[in-house]
Amino acid sequence: MAEARAPAAYGGPTEDDWSAALAAVRDLPADARVLLICHVNPDGDALGSMLGFALGLRRLGVRQVQATFPGPPEVPLPFQALPGLDLLVPDDQVWVDPDLLLCFDAASASRLGSLADRLLTAKTSVVLDHHASNTRFGGTHLVDPTAAATAVVAEQLLARLGVPLDAEIAECFYVAVATDTGSFRFDATTPAVHEMAARLIATGIRPGEISRRVFDSRPFGAVRLYGEVLQRAELDPRAAGGRGLVWTYATLDDLARHGQSAYVLEALIDSVRCAIEADVSCVVKQVGDAEWAVSMRSRGAVDVSRVAVALGGGGHRLAAGFTGHGSPAQVVDAIRAELAADGACPEDQG
Ligand code: 5GP
Ligand code: MN
Repeated sequence: MAEARAPAAYGGPTEDDWSAALAAVRDLPADARVLLICHVNPDGDALGSMLGFALGLRRLGVRQVQATFPGPPEVPLPFQALPGLDLLVPDDQVWVDPDLLLCFDAASASRLGSLADRLLTAKTSVVLDHHASNTRFGGTHLVDPTAAATAVVAEQLLARLGVPLDAEIAECFYVAVATDTGSFRFDATTPAVHEMAARLIATGIRPGEISRRVFDSRPFGAVRLYGEVLQRAELDPRAAGGRGLVWTYATLDDLARHGQSAYVLEALIDSVRCAIEADVSCVVKQVGDAEWAVSMRSRGAVDVSRVAVALGGGGHRLAAGFTGHGSPAQVVDAIRAELAADGACPEDQG
Protein backbone atom coordinates (compact mmCIF):
# COMPACT_ATOMS: atom_id res chain seq x y z
CA MET A 1 0.00 0.00 0.00
CA ALA A 2 1.31 3.44 -0.90
CA GLU A 3 1.57 5.77 2.07
CA ALA A 4 0.06 9.23 2.19
CA ARG A 5 2.24 11.95 0.67
CA ALA A 6 3.19 15.17 2.37
CA PRO A 7 1.42 18.30 1.18
CA ALA A 8 3.41 19.67 -1.76
CA ALA A 9 3.48 23.21 -0.35
CA TYR A 10 5.13 22.17 2.90
CA GLY A 11 8.35 24.14 3.29
CA GLY A 12 9.79 22.88 6.56
CA PRO A 13 9.29 23.31 10.30
CA THR A 14 7.49 26.45 11.49
CA GLU A 15 8.57 28.41 14.58
CA ASP A 16 5.69 26.67 16.39
CA ASP A 17 7.17 23.29 15.45
CA TRP A 18 10.60 24.35 16.75
CA SER A 19 9.04 25.68 19.98
CA ALA A 20 7.16 22.42 20.53
CA ALA A 21 10.32 20.38 19.98
CA LEU A 22 12.36 22.64 22.27
CA ALA A 23 9.72 22.38 25.00
CA ALA A 24 9.60 18.59 24.64
CA VAL A 25 13.33 18.43 25.50
CA ARG A 26 13.60 21.37 27.93
CA ASP A 27 10.61 20.40 30.06
CA LEU A 28 11.85 16.87 30.72
CA PRO A 29 11.91 15.85 34.39
CA ALA A 30 15.37 15.03 35.75
CA ASP A 31 14.76 11.29 35.68
CA ALA A 32 13.14 11.26 32.22
CA ARG A 33 13.83 8.36 29.88
CA VAL A 34 14.58 9.51 26.34
CA LEU A 35 14.52 6.99 23.52
CA LEU A 36 16.08 7.79 20.14
CA ILE A 37 15.23 5.62 17.14
CA CYS A 38 16.03 5.62 13.44
CA HIS A 39 15.04 3.68 10.34
CA VAL A 40 15.65 0.02 9.57
CA ASN A 41 18.97 -0.77 7.83
CA PRO A 42 20.35 2.49 9.20
CA ASP A 43 22.62 4.52 6.93
CA GLY A 44 25.10 7.24 7.86
CA ASP A 45 22.41 9.89 8.30
CA ALA A 46 20.11 7.69 10.37
CA LEU A 47 22.88 6.64 12.77
CA GLY A 48 24.84 9.89 12.63
CA SER A 49 21.90 12.22 13.29
CA MET A 50 20.57 9.95 16.05
CA LEU A 51 23.88 9.39 17.86
CA GLY A 52 25.03 13.01 17.46
CA PHE A 53 21.77 14.21 18.99
CA ALA A 54 21.96 11.56 21.73
CA LEU A 55 25.42 12.83 22.69
CA GLY A 56 24.01 16.37 22.70
CA LEU A 57 21.29 15.30 25.14
CA ARG A 58 24.00 13.84 27.37
CA ARG A 59 25.86 17.17 27.31
CA LEU A 60 22.56 18.80 28.30
CA GLY A 61 22.46 16.64 31.42
CA VAL A 62 19.83 14.12 30.32
CA ARG A 63 20.99 11.01 32.16
CA GLN A 64 18.72 8.29 30.81
CA VAL A 65 19.27 8.06 27.07
CA GLN A 66 18.77 5.01 24.86
CA ALA A 67 19.36 4.79 21.11
CA THR A 68 18.30 1.92 18.89
CA PHE A 69 17.07 0.84 15.47
CA PRO A 70 14.81 -1.99 14.31
CA GLY A 71 16.15 -5.26 13.03
CA PRO A 72 19.50 -6.95 13.42
CA PRO A 73 21.59 -5.05 16.00
CA GLU A 74 24.66 -5.24 13.77
CA VAL A 75 26.14 -1.81 13.06
CA PRO A 76 27.51 -1.72 9.49
CA LEU A 77 31.33 -1.72 9.37
CA PRO A 78 31.57 1.83 7.96
CA PHE A 79 29.84 3.14 11.12
CA GLN A 80 31.48 0.99 13.76
CA ALA A 81 33.74 3.83 14.91
CA LEU A 82 30.96 6.40 15.38
CA PRO A 83 31.01 8.17 18.73
CA GLY A 84 27.98 7.41 20.91
CA LEU A 85 27.65 3.75 19.91
CA ASP A 86 27.73 2.88 23.61
CA LEU A 87 24.25 4.41 23.86
CA LEU A 88 22.84 1.71 21.56
CA VAL A 89 20.71 -0.92 23.28
CA PRO A 90 19.41 -4.23 21.90
CA ASP A 91 15.70 -4.64 21.02
CA ASP A 92 14.69 -6.48 24.18
CA GLN A 93 16.05 -3.77 26.50
CA VAL A 94 14.38 -0.82 24.81
CA TRP A 95 11.98 1.09 27.10
CA VAL A 96 8.37 0.38 26.22
CA ASP A 97 6.97 3.75 27.39
CA PRO A 98 9.71 6.39 27.20
CA ASP A 99 8.95 9.94 28.35
CA LEU A 100 10.24 11.29 25.06
CA LEU A 101 10.68 9.51 21.74
CA LEU A 102 12.90 11.11 19.11
CA CYS A 103 12.77 9.62 15.63
CA PHE A 104 15.48 10.22 13.01
CA ASP A 105 15.54 10.00 9.21
CA ALA A 106 12.43 7.81 8.84
CA ALA A 107 9.99 8.91 6.13
CA SER A 108 7.18 6.73 7.46
CA ALA A 109 6.27 4.70 10.53
CA SER A 110 6.72 1.51 8.49
CA ARG A 111 10.46 2.30 8.33
CA LEU A 112 10.58 1.83 12.12
CA GLY A 113 9.70 -1.87 11.99
CA SER A 114 8.97 -3.30 15.44
CA LEU A 115 9.74 0.06 17.07
CA ALA A 116 6.75 1.80 15.45
CA ASP A 117 4.60 0.92 18.48
CA ARG A 118 6.68 3.33 20.59
CA LEU A 119 4.93 6.16 18.72
CA LEU A 120 1.80 5.10 20.60
CA THR A 121 3.33 4.30 23.98
CA ALA A 122 5.77 7.22 24.37
CA LYS A 123 4.44 10.23 26.33
CA THR A 124 5.70 12.65 23.66
CA SER A 125 7.31 12.18 20.26
CA VAL A 126 9.32 14.39 17.93
CA VAL A 127 10.11 13.35 14.37
CA LEU A 128 13.28 14.77 12.78
CA ASP A 129 13.48 14.10 9.05
CA HIS A 130 14.18 15.55 5.61
CA HIS A 131 12.22 13.30 3.23
CA ALA A 132 9.70 15.09 1.02
CA SER A 133 7.67 11.88 1.20
CA ASN A 134 7.44 12.03 5.03
CA THR A 135 3.93 10.96 6.04
CA ARG A 136 3.70 13.20 9.14
CA PHE A 137 3.49 10.32 11.57
CA GLY A 138 4.23 10.95 15.25
CA GLY A 139 3.67 14.06 17.41
CA THR A 140 5.81 17.12 16.64
CA HIS A 141 7.29 17.28 13.14
CA LEU A 142 10.68 18.77 12.38
CA VAL A 143 10.61 17.71 8.74
CA ASP A 144 12.65 19.87 6.37
CA PRO A 145 12.60 18.59 2.78
CA THR A 146 15.15 21.26 1.85
CA ALA A 147 17.72 19.89 4.32
CA ALA A 148 20.51 17.78 2.82
CA ALA A 149 20.35 15.37 5.75
CA THR A 150 18.37 14.79 8.93
CA ALA A 151 21.58 15.80 10.73
CA VAL A 152 21.01 19.36 9.46
CA VAL A 153 17.74 19.42 11.41
CA ALA A 154 19.37 17.74 14.43
CA GLU A 155 22.21 20.30 14.46
CA GLN A 156 19.68 23.14 14.41
CA LEU A 157 17.73 21.69 17.31
CA LEU A 158 20.91 21.22 19.36
CA ALA A 159 21.90 24.82 18.59
CA ARG A 160 18.48 26.08 19.70
CA LEU A 161 18.93 24.03 22.88
CA GLY A 162 22.24 25.81 23.46
CA VAL A 163 24.39 22.67 23.16
CA PRO A 164 27.76 23.57 21.61
CA LEU A 165 29.28 21.24 19.02
CA ASP A 166 32.17 19.11 20.17
CA ALA A 167 34.32 16.67 18.17
CA GLU A 168 32.18 13.64 19.02
CA ILE A 169 28.87 15.23 18.06
CA ALA A 170 30.55 16.75 15.01
CA GLU A 171 31.90 13.40 13.80
CA CYS A 172 28.40 11.89 13.93
CA PHE A 173 26.87 14.80 12.02
CA TYR A 174 29.76 14.89 9.53
CA VAL A 175 29.25 11.22 8.67
CA ALA A 176 25.52 11.91 8.27
CA VAL A 177 25.94 14.88 5.95
CA ALA A 178 28.81 13.32 3.99
CA THR A 179 26.85 10.13 3.30
CA ASP A 180 23.55 11.82 2.38
CA THR A 181 25.25 14.26 0.00
CA GLY A 182 27.39 11.52 -1.58
CA SER A 183 30.54 13.15 -0.21
CA PHE A 184 29.30 16.66 -1.01
CA ARG A 185 28.59 15.81 -4.66
CA PHE A 186 24.78 15.90 -4.89
CA ASP A 187 22.63 18.96 -5.65
CA ALA A 188 21.67 19.17 -1.98
CA THR A 189 25.24 20.37 -1.36
CA THR A 190 24.32 24.02 -0.80
CA PRO A 191 26.45 26.79 0.70
CA ALA A 192 24.64 26.04 3.98
CA VAL A 193 25.88 22.44 3.83
CA HIS A 194 29.48 23.56 3.37
CA GLU A 195 29.02 26.09 6.18
CA MET A 196 27.79 23.29 8.42
CA ALA A 197 30.73 21.11 7.33
CA ALA A 198 33.05 24.00 8.22
CA ARG A 199 31.53 24.22 11.72
CA LEU A 200 31.92 20.46 12.15
CA ILE A 201 35.53 20.30 10.88
CA ALA A 202 36.45 23.27 13.09
CA THR A 203 35.95 20.99 16.13
CA GLY A 204 39.07 19.08 15.08
CA ILE A 205 37.57 16.03 13.34
CA ARG A 206 39.59 14.45 10.49
CA PRO A 207 37.56 14.33 7.23
CA GLY A 208 40.17 12.21 5.42
CA GLU A 209 40.20 9.51 8.05
CA ILE A 210 36.40 9.54 8.37
CA SER A 211 35.89 9.30 4.60
CA ARG A 212 38.33 6.41 4.26
CA ARG A 213 36.46 4.54 6.97
CA VAL A 214 32.96 5.35 5.75
CA PHE A 215 33.35 5.24 1.94
CA ASP A 216 36.56 3.42 1.09
CA SER A 217 36.59 0.39 3.38
CA ARG A 218 35.15 -2.95 2.31
CA PRO A 219 36.05 -6.61 2.96
CA PHE A 220 37.72 -8.35 0.00
CA GLY A 221 34.76 -10.74 -0.17
CA ALA A 222 32.53 -7.73 -0.86
CA VAL A 223 34.81 -6.63 -3.71
CA ARG A 224 34.37 -10.07 -5.33
CA LEU A 225 30.62 -10.03 -4.62
CA TYR A 226 30.30 -6.64 -6.35
CA GLY A 227 32.09 -8.09 -9.40
CA GLU A 228 29.61 -10.92 -9.65
CA VAL A 229 26.51 -8.82 -9.10
CA LEU A 230 27.64 -6.10 -11.55
CA GLN A 231 28.35 -8.78 -14.14
CA ARG A 232 24.65 -9.65 -14.25
CA ALA A 233 23.44 -6.04 -14.60
CA GLU A 234 20.91 -5.45 -17.37
CA LEU A 235 20.25 -2.37 -19.45
CA ASP A 236 16.77 -1.59 -20.76
CA PRO A 237 17.08 1.53 -22.93
CA ARG A 238 13.33 1.62 -23.71
CA ALA A 239 12.20 1.88 -20.08
CA ALA A 240 11.01 5.18 -18.59
CA GLY A 241 9.79 6.48 -21.94
CA GLY A 242 13.19 5.90 -23.52
CA ARG A 243 15.20 7.41 -20.70
CA GLY A 244 16.50 3.96 -19.83
CA LEU A 245 16.77 1.66 -16.84
CA VAL A 246 19.82 -0.24 -15.61
CA TRP A 247 19.37 -2.80 -12.88
CA THR A 248 20.80 -5.77 -11.07
CA TYR A 249 19.96 -7.92 -8.08
CA ALA A 250 21.71 -9.71 -5.22
CA THR A 251 20.37 -12.68 -3.31
CA LEU A 252 20.92 -13.88 0.24
CA ASP A 253 22.76 -16.80 -1.35
CA ASP A 254 25.17 -14.37 -3.07
CA LEU A 255 25.92 -12.83 0.33
CA ALA A 256 26.41 -16.23 1.96
CA ARG A 257 28.74 -17.50 -0.80
CA HIS A 258 31.00 -14.50 -0.29
CA GLY A 259 30.62 -14.52 3.50
CA GLN A 260 29.16 -11.00 3.54
CA SER A 261 26.51 -9.14 5.56
CA ALA A 262 23.62 -7.39 3.83
CA TYR A 263 24.91 -3.87 4.53
CA VAL A 264 27.86 -4.30 2.15
CA LEU A 265 25.34 -3.98 -0.71
CA GLU A 266 24.33 -0.45 0.30
CA ALA A 267 27.04 1.15 -1.86
CA LEU A 268 26.42 -1.13 -4.86
CA ILE A 269 23.92 1.30 -6.39
CA ASP A 270 26.76 3.83 -6.75
CA SER A 271 28.48 1.56 -9.28
CA VAL A 272 25.25 0.77 -11.15
CA ARG A 273 24.03 4.37 -11.42
CA CYS A 274 27.15 5.33 -13.39
CA ALA A 275 25.77 3.79 -16.60
CA ILE A 276 25.18 6.82 -18.86
CA GLU A 277 22.73 4.92 -21.06
CA ALA A 278 20.06 4.87 -18.34
CA ASP A 279 18.50 7.72 -16.35
CA VAL A 280 17.09 5.32 -13.78
CA SER A 281 19.16 2.71 -11.94
CA CYS A 282 18.05 0.14 -9.47
CA VAL A 283 19.47 -2.58 -7.23
CA VAL A 284 17.13 -5.28 -5.92
CA LYS A 285 18.50 -6.79 -2.69
CA GLN A 286 16.97 -9.90 -1.20
CA VAL A 287 15.98 -9.54 2.45
CA GLY A 288 13.72 -12.60 2.82
CA ASP A 289 11.75 -15.22 0.99
CA ALA A 290 10.50 -13.39 -2.13
CA GLU A 291 11.09 -10.06 -0.36
CA TRP A 292 13.51 -7.44 -1.69
CA ALA A 293 14.85 -4.07 -0.55
CA VAL A 294 14.94 -1.90 -3.65
CA SER A 295 17.28 1.06 -4.13
CA MET A 296 16.56 3.43 -7.01
CA ARG A 297 18.50 6.40 -8.34
CA SER A 298 17.86 8.95 -11.08
CA ARG A 299 20.49 10.81 -13.10
CA GLY A 300 18.10 13.78 -13.16
CA ALA A 301 15.18 13.35 -15.57
CA VAL A 302 12.95 10.98 -13.60
CA ASP A 303 11.50 11.50 -10.11
CA VAL A 304 12.15 8.08 -8.58
CA SER A 305 10.45 9.00 -5.29
CA ARG A 306 7.14 9.01 -7.23
CA VAL A 307 7.82 5.46 -8.33
CA ALA A 308 8.87 4.43 -4.81
CA VAL A 309 5.81 6.01 -3.17
CA ALA A 310 3.53 4.36 -5.74
CA LEU A 311 5.08 1.01 -4.80
CA GLY A 312 4.73 1.56 -1.04
CA GLY A 313 8.08 3.21 -0.22
CA GLY A 314 9.51 6.70 -0.30
CA GLY A 315 12.64 8.81 -0.53
CA HIS A 316 13.87 11.75 -2.54
CA ARG A 317 13.52 12.79 -6.19
CA LEU A 318 16.89 11.32 -7.19
CA ALA A 319 17.21 8.56 -4.54
CA ALA A 320 14.36 6.43 -3.28
CA GLY A 321 13.42 2.90 -2.33
CA PHE A 322 10.70 0.45 -1.39
CA THR A 323 10.17 -3.18 -0.42
CA GLY A 324 9.34 -5.40 -3.40
CA HIS A 325 7.81 -8.88 -3.59
CA GLY A 326 8.15 -11.85 -5.94
CA SER A 327 11.17 -12.48 -8.15
CA PRO A 328 13.70 -9.75 -9.07
CA ALA A 329 12.22 -9.70 -12.60
CA GLN A 330 8.73 -9.16 -11.14
CA VAL A 331 9.98 -6.36 -8.90
CA VAL A 332 11.65 -4.68 -11.88
CA ASP A 333 8.51 -5.16 -14.00
CA ALA A 334 6.54 -3.26 -11.35
CA ILE A 335 9.12 -0.45 -11.54
CA ARG A 336 8.96 -0.46 -15.36
CA ALA A 337 5.16 -0.12 -15.21
CA GLU A 338 5.39 2.88 -12.84
CA LEU A 339 8.13 4.43 -14.96
CA ALA A 340 5.97 4.07 -18.06
CA ALA A 341 3.11 5.84 -16.27
CA ASP A 342 5.56 8.52 -15.13
CA GLY A 343 6.89 8.98 -18.68
CA ALA A 344 3.37 9.80 -19.86
CA CYS A 345 3.43 13.18 -18.06
CA PRO A 346 6.94 14.63 -18.58
CA GLU A 347 5.76 18.13 -17.59
CA ASP A 348 5.55 16.91 -14.00
CA GLN A 349 9.21 15.99 -13.92
CA GLY A 350 12.04 18.10 -12.61
P1 5GP B 1 18.71 3.69 -0.22
O1 5GP B 1 18.53 3.27 -1.64
O2 5GP B 1 20.03 4.40 -0.03
O3 5GP B 1 18.44 2.62 0.75
O4 5GP B 1 17.59 4.78 0.06
C1 5GP B 1 17.45 5.92 -0.75
C2 5GP B 1 16.38 6.80 -0.16
O5 5GP B 1 15.12 6.14 -0.21
C3 5GP B 1 16.60 7.11 1.32
O6 5GP B 1 16.18 8.44 1.52
C4 5GP B 1 15.72 6.16 2.04
O7 5GP B 1 15.28 6.67 3.26
C5 5GP B 1 14.56 5.96 1.07
N1 5GP B 1 14.04 4.59 1.16
C6 5GP B 1 14.70 3.46 0.83
N2 5GP B 1 13.92 2.37 1.02
C7 5GP B 1 12.73 2.82 1.48
C8 5GP B 1 11.50 2.18 1.88
O8 5GP B 1 11.34 0.95 1.85
N3 5GP B 1 10.50 3.00 2.32
C9 5GP B 1 10.64 4.35 2.37
N4 5GP B 1 9.61 5.07 2.83
N5 5GP B 1 11.78 4.97 2.01
C10 5GP B 1 12.82 4.24 1.57
MN1 MN C 1 18.76 10.97 5.38
